[in-house]
Amino acid sequence: MDIVCSAEELKLFELVGEAAAGMGVSCYLIGGFVRDNLLGRITKDADIVCTGDGIALAHAVAAMLPQKPQVNYFKTFGTAQFRLNGFDVEFVGARKESYTSDSRKPEVTPGTIADDQLRRDFTINALAISLNKDDYGKLIDPFNGINDLADKIIRTPLGPDITFSDDPLRMMRAIRFATQLGFTITPEVFEAISRNKERIKIVSQERIIDEFNKIMKAAKPSVGLDLLFRSGLLKEFFPQFAALSGVEIIEGKGHKDNFYHTLQVIDNTASKSDDLWLRWAALLHDIGKPATKAYEEGHGWTFHGHEVVGERMVPRIFKQLKLPLNEHMKYVAKLVLLHLRPISLTKEDITDSAMRRLLFDAGENLEDLMILCESDITSKNKAKVKRYLENFELVKQRLKEVEESDKIRNWQPPITGDDIMRLFNLTPSREVGVLKTAIREAILDGIIPNNYEAAYELLLQKAAELNLKPV
Ligand code: ATP
Ligand code: MG
Repeated sequence: MDIVCSAEELKLFELVGEAAAGMGVSCYLIGGFVRDNLLGRITKDADIVCTGDGIALAHAVAAMLPQKPQVNYFKTFGTAQFRLNGFDVEFVGARKESYTSDSRKPEVTPGTIADDQLRRDFTINALAISLNKDDYGKLIDPFNGINDLADKIIRTPLGPDITFSDDPLRMMRAIRFATQLGFTITPEVFEAISRNKERIKIVSQERIIDEFNKIMKAAKPSVGLDLLFRSGLLKEFFPQFAALSGVEIIEGKGHKDNFYHTLQVIDNTASKSDDLWLRWAALLHDIGKPATKAYEEGHGWTFHGHEVVGERMVPRIFKQLKLPLNEHMKYVAKLVLLHLRPISLTKEDITDSAMRRLLFDAGENLEDLMILCESDITSKNKAKVKRYLENFELVKQRLKEVEESDKIRNWQPPITGDDIMRLFNLTPSREVGVLKTAIREAILDGIIPNNYEAAYELLLQKAAELNLKPV
Protein backbone atom coordinates (compact mmCIF):
# COMPACT_ATOMS: atom_id res chain seq x y z
CA MET A 1 0.00 0.00 0.00
CA ASP A 2 1.03 3.63 -0.42
CA ILE A 3 1.99 5.46 2.73
CA VAL A 4 0.44 8.93 2.67
CA CYS A 5 2.75 11.45 4.32
CA SER A 6 5.26 14.18 3.49
CA ALA A 7 8.26 13.53 1.23
CA GLU A 8 10.54 14.04 4.21
CA GLU A 9 8.70 11.43 6.26
CA LEU A 10 8.80 8.97 3.34
CA LYS A 11 12.55 9.51 3.07
CA LEU A 12 12.84 8.83 6.79
CA PHE A 13 10.96 5.52 6.48
CA GLU A 14 13.29 4.43 3.65
CA LEU A 15 16.28 5.25 5.84
CA VAL A 16 14.81 3.19 8.67
CA GLY A 17 14.58 0.22 6.28
CA GLU A 18 18.20 0.71 5.22
CA ALA A 19 19.46 1.03 8.78
CA ALA A 20 17.58 -2.12 9.82
CA ALA A 21 18.97 -4.05 6.85
CA GLY A 22 22.46 -2.94 7.90
CA MET A 23 21.79 -4.45 11.33
CA GLY A 24 20.32 -7.61 9.86
CA VAL A 25 16.84 -7.06 11.34
CA SER A 26 13.36 -6.37 9.88
CA CYS A 27 11.32 -3.28 10.69
CA TYR A 28 7.72 -2.15 10.37
CA LEU A 29 5.46 0.82 10.88
CA ILE A 30 2.83 -0.29 13.36
CA GLY A 31 -0.24 0.80 15.31
CA GLY A 32 -1.86 4.23 15.28
CA PHE A 33 0.10 5.60 12.32
CA VAL A 34 -0.96 2.74 10.03
CA ARG A 35 -4.57 2.89 11.26
CA ASP A 36 -4.82 6.65 10.78
CA ASN A 37 -3.12 6.45 7.38
CA LEU A 38 -5.76 4.02 6.19
CA LEU A 39 -8.48 6.26 7.64
CA GLY A 40 -7.04 9.31 5.91
CA ARG A 41 -6.29 11.03 9.23
CA ILE A 42 -3.07 12.98 9.43
CA THR A 43 -0.79 11.76 12.21
CA LYS A 44 2.29 13.46 13.53
CA ASP A 45 3.72 10.46 15.31
CA ALA A 46 4.77 7.02 14.15
CA ASP A 47 5.72 3.81 15.94
CA ILE A 48 8.33 1.53 14.44
CA VAL A 49 8.89 -2.00 15.61
CA CYS A 50 11.94 -4.07 14.68
CA THR A 51 12.92 -7.68 15.24
CA GLY A 52 15.93 -6.69 17.33
CA ASP A 53 17.21 -3.82 19.44
CA GLY A 54 14.89 -0.82 18.97
CA ILE A 55 17.26 1.57 20.76
CA ALA A 56 20.18 0.61 18.52
CA LEU A 57 18.00 1.10 15.43
CA ALA A 58 16.96 4.57 16.57
CA HIS A 59 20.60 5.56 17.03
CA ALA A 60 21.57 4.14 13.64
CA VAL A 61 18.77 6.07 11.89
CA ALA A 62 19.54 9.32 13.73
CA ALA A 63 23.19 9.06 12.70
CA MET A 64 22.18 8.75 9.02
CA LEU A 65 20.01 11.88 9.12
CA PRO A 66 21.60 15.23 8.20
CA GLN A 67 19.82 16.87 11.21
CA LYS A 68 21.28 14.27 13.63
CA PRO A 69 18.30 14.46 16.02
CA GLN A 70 18.84 13.70 19.67
CA VAL A 71 17.68 10.20 20.65
CA ASN A 72 15.85 9.77 23.96
CA TYR A 73 15.71 6.22 25.19
CA PHE A 74 14.43 4.12 28.08
CA LYS A 75 16.58 1.08 28.65
CA THR A 76 14.11 -0.66 30.97
CA PHE A 77 11.36 -0.53 28.34
CA GLY A 78 13.67 -0.98 25.33
CA THR A 79 12.14 2.05 23.63
CA ALA A 80 13.74 5.06 21.93
CA GLN A 81 12.33 8.21 20.38
CA PHE A 82 13.37 11.26 18.39
CA ARG A 83 11.64 14.24 16.80
CA LEU A 84 12.19 15.42 13.27
CA ASN A 85 10.56 18.73 12.33
CA GLY A 86 7.55 18.11 14.55
CA PHE A 87 7.28 14.45 13.54
CA ASP A 88 7.63 12.08 16.48
CA VAL A 89 9.16 8.66 15.81
CA GLU A 90 9.26 5.88 18.37
CA PHE A 91 11.28 2.67 18.10
CA VAL A 92 10.77 -0.58 19.96
CA GLY A 93 11.94 -4.17 19.62
CA ALA A 94 9.24 -6.75 18.77
CA ARG A 95 8.09 -8.59 21.90
CA LYS A 96 6.47 -11.86 22.71
CA GLU A 97 4.33 -12.42 25.77
CA SER A 98 3.96 -15.85 27.28
CA TYR A 99 1.80 -16.65 30.27
CA THR A 100 2.82 -19.25 32.77
CA SER A 101 0.03 -20.90 34.67
CA ASP A 102 1.37 -19.93 38.09
CA SER A 103 1.63 -16.19 37.44
CA ARG A 104 -0.68 -13.52 36.06
CA LYS A 105 2.29 -11.48 34.89
CA PRO A 106 3.43 -12.40 31.40
CA GLU A 107 7.01 -13.17 30.58
CA VAL A 108 8.16 -10.74 27.91
CA THR A 109 10.87 -11.91 25.52
CA PRO A 110 12.11 -10.79 22.09
CA GLY A 111 9.76 -12.00 19.37
CA THR A 112 8.66 -11.79 15.76
CA ILE A 113 6.40 -9.19 14.20
CA ALA A 114 3.54 -11.70 14.49
CA ASP A 115 4.18 -12.10 18.24
CA ASP A 116 4.19 -8.35 18.64
CA GLN A 117 0.92 -7.89 16.76
CA LEU A 118 -0.73 -10.47 19.01
CA ARG A 119 -0.13 -8.36 22.12
CA ARG A 120 -1.63 -5.17 20.65
CA ASP A 121 -4.96 -3.98 22.00
CA PHE A 122 -7.28 -3.96 18.97
CA THR A 123 -7.27 -5.42 15.47
CA ILE A 124 -7.25 -1.90 14.00
CA ASN A 125 -4.19 -1.07 16.13
CA ALA A 126 -2.31 -4.24 15.16
CA LEU A 127 -1.86 -3.32 11.49
CA ALA A 128 1.74 -3.09 10.29
CA ILE A 129 3.46 -1.93 7.11
CA SER A 130 6.78 -3.41 6.08
CA LEU A 131 9.70 -1.01 5.63
CA ASN A 132 11.98 -3.81 4.37
CA LYS A 133 13.44 -3.76 0.89
CA ASP A 134 11.94 -7.04 -0.36
CA ASP A 135 8.34 -6.17 0.48
CA TYR A 136 8.40 -2.40 1.24
CA GLY A 137 4.89 -1.03 1.78
CA LYS A 138 3.26 -4.42 2.28
CA LEU A 139 0.37 -4.40 4.75
CA ILE A 140 0.67 -7.10 7.39
CA ASP A 141 -2.74 -7.70 8.85
CA PRO A 142 -3.11 -11.04 10.62
CA PHE A 143 -6.46 -10.22 12.29
CA ASN A 144 -8.31 -8.65 9.39
CA GLY A 145 -8.03 -5.18 10.91
CA ILE A 146 -8.60 -3.71 7.47
CA ASN A 147 -12.12 -5.14 7.41
CA ASP A 148 -12.79 -3.83 10.92
CA LEU A 149 -11.60 -0.40 9.80
CA ALA A 150 -14.05 -0.51 6.89
CA ASP A 151 -16.85 -1.77 9.14
CA LYS A 152 -15.89 0.69 11.89
CA ILE A 153 -15.55 -1.99 14.51
CA ILE A 154 -13.47 -2.25 17.71
CA ARG A 155 -12.43 -5.86 18.30
CA THR A 156 -9.53 -7.47 20.18
CA PRO A 157 -6.99 -9.76 18.46
CA LEU A 158 -7.23 -12.33 21.27
CA GLY A 159 -10.32 -13.24 23.28
CA PRO A 160 -11.37 -9.97 24.96
CA ASP A 161 -11.21 -11.41 28.49
CA ILE A 162 -7.52 -12.20 27.95
CA THR A 163 -6.77 -8.81 26.37
CA PHE A 164 -8.55 -6.87 29.14
CA SER A 165 -7.37 -8.93 32.03
CA ASP A 166 -3.75 -8.50 30.88
CA ASP A 167 -3.99 -4.68 30.77
CA PRO A 168 -7.38 -3.39 31.99
CA LEU A 169 -6.63 0.10 30.65
CA ARG A 170 -7.52 -1.36 27.25
CA MET A 171 -11.19 -1.23 28.33
CA MET A 172 -10.91 2.56 28.55
CA ARG A 173 -9.01 2.61 25.27
CA ALA A 174 -11.76 0.64 23.49
CA ILE A 175 -14.28 3.27 24.56
CA ARG A 176 -11.90 6.12 23.75
CA PHE A 177 -11.29 4.88 20.19
CA ALA A 178 -15.02 4.26 19.69
CA THR A 179 -15.63 7.89 20.71
CA GLN A 180 -12.80 9.49 18.70
CA LEU A 181 -13.36 7.46 15.54
CA GLY A 182 -17.13 6.96 15.72
CA PHE A 183 -16.63 3.16 15.77
CA THR A 184 -18.79 0.46 17.35
CA ILE A 185 -17.48 -1.90 20.02
CA THR A 186 -18.59 -5.45 19.20
CA PRO A 187 -21.14 -6.89 21.67
CA GLU A 188 -18.66 -9.58 22.67
CA VAL A 189 -16.01 -6.99 23.52
CA PHE A 190 -18.51 -4.72 25.30
CA GLU A 191 -19.74 -7.59 27.46
CA ALA A 192 -16.14 -8.38 28.34
CA ILE A 193 -15.68 -4.78 29.52
CA SER A 194 -18.69 -5.15 31.83
CA ARG A 195 -17.38 -8.46 33.09
CA ASN A 196 -13.87 -7.17 33.76
CA LYS A 197 -14.78 -3.67 34.97
CA GLU A 198 -13.46 -4.17 38.51
CA ARG A 199 -9.99 -4.90 37.13
CA ILE A 200 -9.66 -1.20 36.24
CA LYS A 201 -8.72 -0.74 39.93
CA ILE A 202 -5.24 -2.16 39.26
CA VAL A 203 -4.51 0.55 36.66
CA SER A 204 -2.88 3.79 37.78
CA GLN A 205 -5.20 6.79 38.00
CA GLU A 206 -2.85 8.79 35.74
CA ARG A 207 -3.37 6.36 32.86
CA ILE A 208 -7.13 6.28 33.45
CA ILE A 209 -7.57 10.06 33.44
CA ASP A 210 -5.41 10.34 30.34
CA GLU A 211 -7.86 8.20 28.39
CA PHE A 212 -10.85 9.86 30.05
CA ASN A 213 -9.65 13.29 28.94
CA LYS A 214 -9.21 12.02 25.39
CA ILE A 215 -12.90 11.09 25.50
CA MET A 216 -13.69 14.55 26.89
CA LYS A 217 -11.76 16.20 24.03
CA ALA A 218 -13.62 14.28 21.31
CA ALA A 219 -16.22 16.00 19.14
CA LYS A 220 -19.08 14.24 20.97
CA PRO A 221 -17.90 13.17 24.44
CA SER A 222 -21.35 11.76 25.35
CA VAL A 223 -20.68 8.72 23.15
CA GLY A 224 -17.84 7.55 25.37
CA LEU A 225 -19.35 8.74 28.65
CA ASP A 226 -22.50 6.75 27.94
CA LEU A 227 -20.44 3.64 27.09
CA LEU A 228 -18.43 4.07 30.30
CA PHE A 229 -21.68 4.32 32.24
CA ARG A 230 -23.47 1.41 30.58
CA SER A 231 -20.49 -0.92 30.91
CA GLY A 232 -20.27 -0.13 34.62
CA LEU A 233 -16.70 1.11 34.25
CA LEU A 234 -17.57 4.70 35.17
CA LYS A 235 -18.85 3.75 38.62
CA GLU A 236 -15.52 2.05 39.37
CA PHE A 237 -13.40 5.19 39.13
CA PHE A 238 -15.89 8.07 39.17
CA PRO A 239 -18.90 7.09 41.30
CA GLN A 240 -20.03 10.70 41.87
CA PHE A 241 -20.65 11.11 38.16
CA ALA A 242 -22.50 7.81 37.81
CA ALA A 243 -24.64 8.81 40.82
CA LEU A 244 -26.31 11.53 38.73
CA SER A 245 -28.19 8.83 36.88
CA GLY A 246 -31.77 7.78 37.50
CA VAL A 247 -35.21 9.25 37.94
CA GLU A 248 -37.25 9.11 41.12
CA ILE A 249 -41.01 9.52 41.01
CA ILE A 250 -43.22 10.73 43.88
CA GLU A 251 -46.92 11.64 43.51
CA GLY A 252 -46.52 10.98 39.80
CA LYS A 253 -43.84 13.64 39.50
CA GLY A 254 -40.37 12.74 38.26
CA HIS A 255 -37.24 14.90 37.90
CA LYS A 256 -35.03 14.73 34.86
CA ASP A 257 -32.27 12.15 34.63
CA ASN A 258 -29.33 14.32 35.59
CA PHE A 259 -26.75 12.00 34.06
CA TYR A 260 -28.21 12.14 30.57
CA HIS A 261 -28.97 15.84 31.00
CA THR A 262 -25.29 16.39 31.87
CA LEU A 263 -24.16 14.43 28.79
CA GLN A 264 -26.30 16.73 26.66
CA VAL A 265 -24.79 19.80 28.33
CA ILE A 266 -21.25 18.47 27.69
CA ASP A 267 -22.03 17.89 24.00
CA ASN A 268 -23.60 21.34 23.68
CA THR A 269 -20.52 22.87 25.28
CA ALA A 270 -18.22 20.79 23.06
CA SER A 271 -20.00 22.07 19.96
CA LYS A 272 -19.13 25.63 21.01
CA SER A 273 -15.66 25.26 22.53
CA ASP A 274 -12.60 23.00 22.42
CA ASP A 275 -11.56 23.99 25.95
CA LEU A 276 -11.15 20.83 28.02
CA TRP A 277 -11.78 22.67 31.33
CA LEU A 278 -14.98 24.27 30.14
CA ARG A 279 -16.12 20.77 29.23
CA TRP A 280 -15.17 19.65 32.75
CA ALA A 281 -17.27 22.49 34.17
CA ALA A 282 -20.16 21.14 32.09
CA LEU A 283 -19.53 17.65 33.44
CA LEU A 284 -19.55 18.87 37.04
CA HIS A 285 -22.17 21.64 36.90
CA ASP A 286 -24.90 19.50 38.52
CA ILE A 287 -22.63 17.19 40.53
CA GLY A 288 -24.17 18.55 43.75
CA LYS A 289 -27.69 17.46 42.76
CA PRO A 290 -27.83 13.97 44.31
CA ALA A 291 -26.76 15.41 47.68
CA THR A 292 -29.35 18.22 47.62
CA LYS A 293 -32.32 16.41 46.09
CA ALA A 294 -35.58 16.83 47.97
CA TYR A 295 -39.26 16.42 47.27
CA GLU A 296 -41.48 19.24 48.45
CA GLU A 297 -45.09 18.22 48.76
CA GLY A 298 -47.37 19.89 46.29
CA HIS A 299 -44.42 21.57 44.64
CA GLY A 300 -42.12 18.94 43.20
CA TRP A 301 -38.42 18.16 43.10
CA THR A 302 -35.84 20.69 44.25
CA PHE A 303 -32.06 20.78 44.31
CA HIS A 304 -31.56 23.90 46.43
CA GLY A 305 -27.95 24.97 46.78
CA HIS A 306 -26.63 22.28 44.44
CA GLU A 307 -24.30 24.83 42.85
CA VAL A 308 -22.66 25.56 46.24
CA VAL A 309 -22.40 21.88 47.18
CA GLY A 310 -21.07 21.17 43.68
CA GLU A 311 -18.42 23.87 43.95
CA ARG A 312 -17.22 22.32 47.22
CA MET A 313 -17.04 18.86 45.67
CA VAL A 314 -14.70 19.97 42.87
CA PRO A 315 -11.34 19.89 44.74
CA ARG A 316 -11.99 16.40 46.10
CA ILE A 317 -12.98 15.07 42.72
CA PHE A 318 -9.91 16.63 41.09
CA LYS A 319 -7.70 15.05 43.74
CA GLN A 320 -9.36 11.65 43.45
CA LEU A 321 -9.09 11.63 39.64
CA LYS A 322 -5.55 13.07 39.64
CA LEU A 323 -6.57 16.13 37.68
CA PRO A 324 -4.32 19.17 38.19
CA LEU A 325 -4.91 21.01 41.48
CA ASN A 326 -4.17 24.41 39.99
CA GLU A 327 -5.95 27.32 38.31
CA HIS A 328 -7.89 24.86 36.11
CA MET A 329 -9.49 23.44 39.24
CA LYS A 330 -10.36 26.92 40.53
CA TYR A 331 -11.83 27.83 37.17
CA VAL A 332 -14.05 24.72 37.12
CA ALA A 333 -15.19 25.32 40.72
CA LYS A 334 -16.01 28.94 39.90
CA LEU A 335 -18.11 28.04 36.88
CA VAL A 336 -19.95 25.34 38.83
CA LEU A 337 -20.81 27.89 41.51
CA LEU A 338 -21.98 30.51 39.02
CA HIS A 339 -23.77 28.28 36.53
CA LEU A 340 -27.28 29.33 37.56
CA ARG A 341 -26.63 33.05 37.69
CA PRO A 342 -27.05 34.10 34.04
CA ILE A 343 -30.30 32.17 33.68
CA SER A 344 -31.65 33.77 36.86
CA LEU A 345 -31.30 37.11 35.08
CA THR A 346 -33.85 36.15 32.44
CA LYS A 347 -36.66 36.99 34.84
CA GLU A 348 -38.41 40.32 34.43
CA ASP A 349 -37.52 43.39 36.48
CA ILE A 350 -33.87 42.54 36.78
CA THR A 351 -31.89 45.56 37.89
CA ASP A 352 -28.63 46.80 36.38
CA SER A 353 -27.13 46.14 39.76
CA ALA A 354 -27.74 42.36 39.38
CA MET A 355 -26.07 42.56 35.96
CA ARG A 356 -23.08 44.41 37.42
CA ARG A 357 -22.73 41.79 40.18
CA LEU A 358 -22.57 38.99 37.61
CA LEU A 359 -20.05 40.91 35.50
CA PHE A 360 -17.95 41.43 38.61
CA ASP A 361 -18.19 37.84 39.89
CA ALA A 362 -17.58 36.18 36.50
CA GLY A 363 -14.90 38.65 35.42
CA GLU A 364 -12.65 37.22 32.72
CA ASN A 365 -14.68 33.96 32.65
CA LEU A 366 -17.95 35.57 31.59
CA GLU A 367 -17.92 34.25 27.98
CA ASP A 368 -17.24 30.71 29.19
CA LEU A 369 -19.95 30.99 31.82
CA MET A 370 -22.41 32.12 29.16
CA ILE A 371 -21.48 29.14 26.95
CA LEU A 372 -22.02 26.79 29.88
CA CYS A 373 -25.31 28.40 30.85
CA GLU A 374 -26.65 28.38 27.31
CA SER A 375 -25.60 24.72 26.96
CA ASP A 376 -27.55 23.97 30.13
CA ILE A 377 -30.82 24.83 28.41
CA THR A 378 -32.03 21.35 27.50
CA SER A 379 -35.60 20.18 27.38
CA LYS A 380 -37.68 17.85 25.26
CA ASN A 381 -40.10 20.73 24.85
CA LYS A 382 -38.82 22.62 21.79
CA ALA A 383 -40.99 25.69 22.40
CA LYS A 384 -39.61 25.97 25.94
CA VAL A 385 -36.00 25.77 24.71
CA LYS A 386 -36.73 28.42 22.09
CA ARG A 387 -38.26 30.78 24.65
CA TYR A 388 -35.37 30.29 27.09
CA LEU A 389 -32.79 30.88 24.37
CA GLU A 390 -34.54 34.10 23.31
CA ASN A 391 -34.60 35.37 26.91
CA PHE A 392 -30.99 34.35 27.24
CA GLU A 393 -30.08 36.50 24.21
CA LEU A 394 -31.72 39.46 25.94
CA VAL A 395 -29.59 38.90 29.05
CA LYS A 396 -26.46 38.76 26.89
CA GLN A 397 -27.46 42.05 25.27
CA ARG A 398 -28.09 43.76 28.60
CA LEU A 399 -24.85 42.48 30.08
CA LYS A 400 -23.09 43.97 27.09
CA GLU A 401 -24.76 47.34 27.55
CA VAL A 402 -24.09 47.50 31.29
CA GLU A 403 -20.48 46.52 30.73
CA GLU A 404 -20.03 49.17 28.04
CA SER A 405 -21.28 51.91 30.33
CA ASP A 406 -19.87 50.75 33.69
CA LYS A 407 -16.70 48.75 32.83
CA ILE A 408 -17.15 46.26 35.65
CA ARG A 409 -15.56 43.09 34.28
CA ASN A 410 -11.92 43.78 34.86
CA TRP A 411 -12.81 46.10 37.64
CA GLN A 412 -9.97 47.71 39.52
CA PRO A 413 -11.04 49.81 42.50
CA PRO A 414 -10.71 53.53 41.64
CA ILE A 415 -9.21 53.95 45.11
CA THR A 416 -7.00 51.11 46.37
CA GLY A 417 -6.24 49.88 49.87
CA ASP A 418 -2.83 51.54 49.60
CA ASP A 419 -4.48 54.86 48.70
CA ILE A 420 -6.77 54.55 51.72
CA MET A 421 -3.86 53.83 54.09
CA ARG A 422 -1.93 56.82 52.77
CA LEU A 423 -4.91 59.19 52.89
CA PHE A 424 -5.77 58.39 56.51
CA ASN A 425 -2.35 57.37 57.73
CA LEU A 426 -3.53 53.84 58.53
CA THR A 427 -1.66 50.57 58.83
CA PRO A 428 -3.25 47.45 57.31
CA SER A 429 -6.37 47.02 59.42
CA ARG A 430 -10.04 46.19 59.53
CA GLU A 431 -10.95 49.82 58.70
CA VAL A 432 -9.14 49.66 55.38
CA GLY A 433 -11.18 46.59 54.41
CA VAL A 434 -14.45 48.20 55.51
CA LEU A 435 -13.79 51.31 53.43
CA LYS A 436 -12.69 49.30 50.37
CA THR A 437 -15.81 47.15 50.52
CA ALA A 438 -18.06 50.20 50.94
CA ILE A 439 -16.68 51.70 47.72
CA ARG A 440 -17.04 48.43 45.79
CA GLU A 441 -20.58 47.78 46.98
CA ALA A 442 -21.70 51.34 46.18
CA ILE A 443 -20.35 51.01 42.63
CA LEU A 444 -21.88 47.57 42.03
CA ASP A 445 -25.22 48.78 43.41
CA GLY A 446 -25.09 51.83 41.14
CA ILE A 447 -25.19 54.25 44.08
CA ILE A 448 -22.10 56.01 42.76
CA PRO A 449 -20.48 55.90 39.30
CA ASN A 450 -17.29 53.91 38.74
CA ASN A 451 -14.75 56.78 38.96
CA TYR A 452 -12.23 58.38 41.31
CA GLU A 453 -14.12 61.56 42.23
CA ALA A 454 -17.30 59.76 43.25
CA ALA A 455 -15.34 57.11 45.12
CA TYR A 456 -13.32 59.77 46.97
CA GLU A 457 -16.44 61.61 48.08
CA LEU A 458 -18.01 58.38 49.37
CA LEU A 459 -14.76 57.47 51.08
CA LEU A 460 -14.66 60.76 53.05
CA GLN A 461 -18.24 60.23 54.14
CA LYS A 462 -17.68 56.61 55.26
CA ALA A 463 -14.40 57.52 56.93
CA ALA A 464 -16.12 60.27 58.94
CA GLU A 465 -18.56 57.65 60.24
CA LEU A 466 -15.51 55.79 61.55
CA ASN A 467 -14.09 59.00 63.03
CA LEU A 468 -11.24 59.04 60.53
CA LYS A 469 -9.89 62.27 59.07
CA PRO A 470 -7.64 62.59 56.03
CA VAL A 471 -4.07 63.71 56.85
P1 ATP B 1 -3.22 7.96 19.52
O1 ATP B 1 -1.76 8.21 19.44
O2 ATP B 1 -4.08 8.68 18.57
O3 ATP B 1 -3.73 8.08 20.91
P2 ATP B 1 -2.50 5.25 19.07
O4 ATP B 1 -3.22 4.04 18.56
O5 ATP B 1 -1.25 5.65 18.35
O6 ATP B 1 -3.51 6.43 19.12
P3 ATP B 1 -0.86 5.04 21.36
O7 ATP B 1 -1.24 5.07 22.81
O8 ATP B 1 0.03 6.08 20.81
O9 ATP B 1 -2.23 4.97 20.56
O10 ATP B 1 -0.22 3.60 21.12
C1 ATP B 1 0.41 3.24 19.91
C2 ATP B 1 0.13 1.77 19.61
O11 ATP B 1 0.63 0.95 20.66
C3 ATP B 1 -1.35 1.42 19.50
O12 ATP B 1 -1.85 1.66 18.21
C4 ATP B 1 -1.35 -0.03 19.87
O13 ATP B 1 -0.93 -0.84 18.81
C5 ATP B 1 -0.26 -0.11 20.94
N1 ATP B 1 -0.76 0.07 22.30
C6 ATP B 1 -0.79 1.21 23.03
N2 ATP B 1 -1.27 1.01 24.24
C7 ATP B 1 -1.56 -0.30 24.32
C8 ATP B 1 -2.08 -1.16 25.35
N3 ATP B 1 -2.42 -0.66 26.54
N4 ATP B 1 -2.21 -2.45 25.07
C9 ATP B 1 -1.87 -2.96 23.87
N5 ATP B 1 -1.39 -2.23 22.88
C10 ATP B 1 -1.23 -0.91 23.08
MG1 MG C 1 0.13 7.28 18.96
